[in-house]
Amino acid sequence: MAARKPVTPSPDQPNASTEGYTVLARRYRPQRFADLVGQEAVVQSLINSLKSNRVAHAYLFTGARGVGKTTTARILAKALNCVNGPTTTPCGECDSCKGIASGEDVDVLEIDGASNRGIDEVRAIRDNVQYRPQRARYKIYIIDEVHMLTPPAFNALLKTLEEPPAHVKFFFATTEAQRIPITILSRCQRFDLGGIGVKQIVDRLREIVTTEQLQADDEALELVARRAAGSMRDAQSLLDQLLAFAEDRLTVELVNRLLGTAGEDRVIELANAILAHEPAKALRFLGTAADDGLQVSELLDQLIAYWRDLMVVNCSGDEGQILSITARNRGALKEQAKGLSLDTILAGLDVLNSTKMRLRTSDHGCLLLEMAVVRLGRLADLVSLSQMAQLLRQPGAIGPASATAPLRVTAPEAEKKKLTGPSKPVAAVIPAVFDEATVAAVWAEILASSPPMLAASLQKAGTPAISGPNALVLRFPAGYTLEQEFCGEPSRVARIEDELATRLSRRCKLLFELATDGQCTLPETRVDDEGTASRSRGKRLDAYTDPLCKRAMEVLEAQVLQRDDGFGIGVAPDDSPPAEMNGERQ
Ligand SMILES: [Zn+2]
Repeated sequence: MAARKPVTPSPDQPNASTEGYTVLARRYRPQRFADLVGQEAVVQSLINSLKSNRVAHAYLFTGARGVGKTTTARILAKALNCVNGPTTTPCGECDSCKGIASGEDVDVLEIDGASNRGIDEVRAIRDNVQYRPQRARYKIYIIDEVHMLTPPAFNALLKTLEEPPAHVKFFFATTEAQRIPITILSRCQRFDLGGIGVKQIVDRLREIVTTEQLQADDEALELVARRAAGSMRDAQSLLDQLLAFAEDRLTVELVNRLLGTAGEDRVIELANAILAHEPAKALRFLGTAADDGLQVSELLDQLIAYWRDLMVVNCSGDEGQILSITARNRGALKEQAKGLSLDTILAGLDVLNSTKMRLRTSDHGCLLLEMAVVRLGRLADLVSLSQMAQLLRQPGAIGPASATAPLRVTAPEAEKKKLTGPSKPVAAVIPAVFDEATVAAVWAEILASSPPMLAASLQKAGTPAISGPNALVLRFPAGYTLEQEFCGEPSRVARIEDELATRLSRRCKLLFELATDGQCTLPETRVDDEGTASRSRGKRLDAYTDPLCKRAMEVLEAQVLQRDDGFGIGVAPDDSPPAEMNGERQ
């Protein structure tokens, strides 16, 4: 960090360090209730209790870091111990006020709960409380991070809290109130300090910049404020660091460059490429971004914020909403949000959030981000559930269903496999001539290259029929359930599909059908010794016979890969892909 020229301490900071540089957050720490930004309710409540002389003997201030917990405790201590006090406007000039502001007062003891967490430290406090304060009205203990105390320490503290001498006050501060025993909580008056709004932080930063006689763009300060996510201290620390690098003016470009974040315009450019289904453009963008020193995690966070904006605007418009995008770009955001379904936006947020989680444990950040971007671009292709239900209610309207023979489609799970092998050159496929004649020839080769048992079973179905551009259907005659099941076993399907891919220069889906002759003998009615296996197979087959599922499979040309009885959990054991599918296959 570059050294900054020493700045004259602001007038409301009587005790700023004169040796070297004191960070902004300390120099601009609020000294009076009126200076506490964003905590109006807490302040009002404390002022009322001071006015009515009903100050409790223990307070707990909770909230995220940097929202003013310890600062509030100190101001309250000053209010009580000021030479003019108790008062709602401590003078800031007397020995008590000065001592408290510097954290070195004889009667106001600040203890860090994280480093003084044992029972011995609390016993020392307990032995000490009986002595009267040296010069002020109250002996005040401010314990920061109080949740760090050990259980025995809390027990010892509880004894003191139950019968404190009249001259003793306890002010606790914590980020994690839920970790404090209920017995302690019930003896404190609790105040929850909320995160501080962007505008309030910006206003405060502006005051600081002006006092420091420095220059900063509004948008740059807003970026800093957003980045701090409600923490005034974080905002001021960040401003401090950034100002050290700013020659004469803090600009948006500089903030972005120092943080490794993309400028808003660039985030919008990326979002545009994604939403316009231009994966090549989006990937190119990521390539340039990496060259420009943008951080993967930062860019991902920015995308998450952007998709959250899309969600908010899609749900409720942008009136009165806190958005990550500045006002000048909200028109474009609104247009985009209008063109998307809420389901698509939510699915996008899911993709981004799971990418964020995977990023923590991965060394392939760039790849993960690229995958996320490509997947986001494909989301609009998803059919929403309501649309799907509508399609299903229109029998015969859409879909390749040839209603001549009732079909049952098996579930070759090889489809999953395709997605897992990035090394396979699936993209560069040369379309081969693909008609009845080529299929027959190719199929003969497949049979010849298959193991005897598989070949024999496949032969029972004859030559597969072409169904759509990339699917072949192999129909077994009625009653050939065993053969169909044998061939439909996932690893065998994958094997055949791989063989087909080599010969046809394209990936081809192999579907199995079982012709029925009017009478429906369902395989799951077969007696099976393995109770569990047959039960879950029965479940899977339910999906094939259930009219809605059947119709869904026809309309969407889909297969059942797994059945969830819950929401996303509960994969039937028999339905998961066999072990060889997850790793290398033959
Ligand atoms: Zn005073």
